Amino acid sequence: MTATHKTASPVAPFLHATPSDTAAAYFIDTHCHLDAAEFNAERDAEYARAVAAGVAIQIIPAVSRDSFATVAAACERYPGCLPAWGLHPMLLDVHHPEHLAELRAQIEKKRPIAVGEIGLDLFVSHLDYATQEYFYVEQLKLAQEYDLPVLLHCRKANDKILKHLRKIKVRGGIAHAFNGSPQQANEFIKLGFKLGFGGAFTWPRANNLRRLAVDLPLEAIVLETDSPDIPPVWIGHGRNAPGELPRIAQVLAELRQMELADIRDATTRNALAVLGLTHD
Ligand SMILES: [Zn+2]
Repeated sequence: MTATHKTASPVAPFLHATPSDTAAAYFIDTHCHLDAAEFNAERDAEYARAVAAGVAIQIIPAVSRDSFATVAAACERYPGCLPAWGLHPMLLDVHHPEHLAELRAQIEKKRPIAVGEIGLDLFVSHLDYATQEYFYVEQLKLAQEYDLPVLLHCRKANDKILKHLRKIKVRGGIAHAFNGSPQQANEFIKLGFKLGFGGAFTWPRANNLRRLAVDLPLEAIVLETDSPDIPPVWIGHGRNAPGELPRIAQVLAELRQMELADIRDATTRNALAVLGLTHD
């Protein structure tokens, strides 16, 4: 197959219903596992709380073949929740090479916002690197073929992630839960990526992340919760939720000495642009 597969933006009708064409007066949680079992008892309530807090769009990345169904169900039930399809690098126990064909079929069945969550994890030592790399590379090729951005999990693996991105050109994406050097951040930016910031930088001792959050160009930053994971400092070790996104944005606003509304509008515009959701 040589042609790319472009279709109209799946979110366009929703965006046209938003109040203003000029200001993006809502937040986007660019990485939220609302389909996770942790939300089974309170999914409706957490979705409603997020919407009430101004989080109008949530990107819900799949993590395995089996999660295609739970992500699809969440995205059908909740307006503004948009799916990404992918096989997560930490779940090697459940992936099989045939799942790549199922991923392709899923992309054909329902065009996602991105291919994700994919990537490499060198923090968890028992994960076989060659197997991770195989799934990561094959999924990059799918993203390239379908002209989709990618949602990257890149824990302790930024240079290896970047090496493959230079070889297999995709239309950009998001380095989710970014943590790395300013040089690595710049390499992602040069390749058309935004850097995802969430609960981790709200912890006072997260010096590297807090410095990045202040020093990086605002055009490079998108917000995320990674719910139910990566809780912000005010939740401690509890369950994170998409309704926390505005408060995470507030921390960024304080660190950068900006107004919350300006952080909201800029990060929303960045997310819309990198995910190909802009109005025209
Ligand atoms: Zn995730």
